[in-house]
Amino acid sequence: NSDLILAVNAVLVNSDSNRRYIVKDILGQGTFGQVAKCWVPETNNHVAIKVIKNQPAYYHQAVVEISILTMLNQNFDPEDKHHIVRILDHFVFQRHLCISFEMLGVNLYELLKLNQYRGISLKLLRLFAKQILDALLVLRDARVIHCDLKPENILLTTRLQSAEIKMIDFGSACMENRTVYSYIQSRFYRSPEVLLGHPYTTAIDMWSFGCIVAELFLGLPLFPGASEYDLIKRMIEILRDQPPDHILRSAKNTSKYFKHVGVSSRLDENRTGEGQQSAYRFLTESEYEAREMKKPESGKRYFNFDTLEDIVVNYPHLNRKKMTEEEIAKENQSRLAFIDFLRGLVEFDPEKRWTPGQAARHPFVTEEAFTCPYMPAPETPRKPVSQIVTVDHNPGSGHWF
Ligand code: ATP
Ligand code: MG
Ligand code: MG
Repeated sequence: NSDLILAVNAVLVNSDSNRRYIVKDILGQGTFGQVAKCWVPETNNHVAIKVIKNQPAYYHQAVVEISILTMLNQNFDPEDKHHIVRILDHFVFQRHLCISFEMLGVNLYELLKLNQYRGISLKLLRLFAKQILDALLVLRDARVIHCDLKPENILLTTRLQSAEIKMIDFGSACMENRTVYSYIQSRFYRSPEVLLGHPYTTAIDMWSFGCIVAELFLGLPLFPGASEYDLIKRMIEILRDQPPDHILRSAKNTSKYFKHVGVSSRLDENRTGEGQQSAYRFLTESEYEAREMKKPESGKRYFNFDTLEDIVVNYPHLNRKKMTEEEIAKENQSRLAFIDFLRGLVEFDPEKRWTPGQAARHPFVTEEAFTCPYMPAPETPRKPVSQIVTVDHNPGSGHWF
């Protein structure tokens, strides 16, 4: 039996430093192993320790998590100002790789649940959005793709009443020039380019970020796809758009979900707006069923409206009755800015999707008056790669398998 079962008062030891960790609580459990709240007698502090299953796949994933997070902490956020969890220690205990992190609080999914899935105010949402964007700015400069952004992986800090959050779980992260896996991101937050099997960049995290901020407002996921087909169907319906032809033309899985209906000419590609003709049409359910020999799983509808604009504009207020007319007008104005903000994030074309810097300058975030659609200035070039210390995915002493 290769599994270490953690119990309260069990002791984990880093045998290099002799530091001892006393298990006080189990915070999370997953396919990877367990996360325990531990007390450190040496410092009289609490830390969160991820105890990884004693199996090669999980071990390797954890090694990547250690190397990427160490690099981000040390080289890109030495002063701990950018809302990325701190890694404190790692060691092997009884053939289990253990990673210790600063102790954080509840995750944003738990927060939504505590609030009975009614969503949070745009004011609080703005505070969260700024901090996540700050972390995403760092990741983009570091050429790191998180690959699993979702509310569960954003945690409140334990500082009370601060609304401070941090990004966690770099166990699926990769460097932008080493995008080896194609089955990544949690389904509701999966970007169109990943769904379609197209090469991807840090822009996939911006798609997930768009899904997260929508969910924080609505309380429920924007695209709760029950299958990948159902997910693309929901995107197309809610966004009234579909992936651009240049993506569909070169993506690996296009034929699984789309039918080629014509040759897109140069002229077509230069056309914009309503009249644009695509060379591809999304398969109907029966066409999909005929091709894949199975019915696509489809899920619940959460909202009474079809389009992003209608869903957000009509979303019920928690306490509209208590609001003055002036407050209602202000809320409506914020919602229009919020819709425009979302539109640049859940943008099908990864090339047009906003970067973290562009999103951070949106009037919804900066609270400047929002009058017309935001047209971000082109992104400034990133710091050259030569300044980046690449990770070697080797956290130290040797092999355990
Ligand atoms: P899997 O991908 O198999 O679900 P995981 O990679 O998501 O596992 P984590 O997200 O790192 O594992 O941790 C799982 C859960 O443990 C988190 O969602 C969170 O609730 C809790 N947790 C993780 N790190 C911390 C921390 N530093 N402080 C407090 N709780 C934490
Ligand atoms: Mg996680
Ligand atoms: Mg993970």
